[in-house]
Amino acid sequence: MNELSWAAIVRLVHERARNCCEYCQTSRDMIGQALHVEHIDPHGGDAPENLCLACPSCNLSKATSIAARDPLTRATVPLFHPRTQRWQDHFLWIENGGRVQGVTPIGRATVERLRMNQDRLVVARALWVKANCHPPLFEA
Ligand SMILES: [Zn+2]
Repeated sequence: MNELSWAAIVRLVHERARNCCEYCQTSRDMIGQALHVEHIDPHGGDAPENLCLACPSCNLSKATSIAARDPLTRATVPLFHPRTQRWQDHFLWIENGGRVQGVTPIGRATVERLRMNQDRLVVARALWVKANCHPPLFEA
């Protein structure tokens, strides 16, 4: 079996994520910034199963972490894994799409560690909601 070139992997990661951050769901088209191909496990290699698309804010906040503390239970739990878990099982939109709420220990820890509700993001999301571009819809 042929290995994919890095360019092919980058294309696959973007297509699979529909050009949206797989953590906070920010769309590349709305921010006009390149999204990052993120290593879910920083030591997990370049296989597509270890990669996801992340906005600069999530990627820089996550850095090399794979676990974080749930602010409710104080337990250290793994961060959300976009390849093996479904976003809607761990997060929901509140405040008319302005904020992401973690609904599981993994979701809460990921929201905190990735700083998914920074003020500037909440302000931007309010504009996206006005433009009918947010929050994204998920297939059932
Ligand atoms: Zn993000």
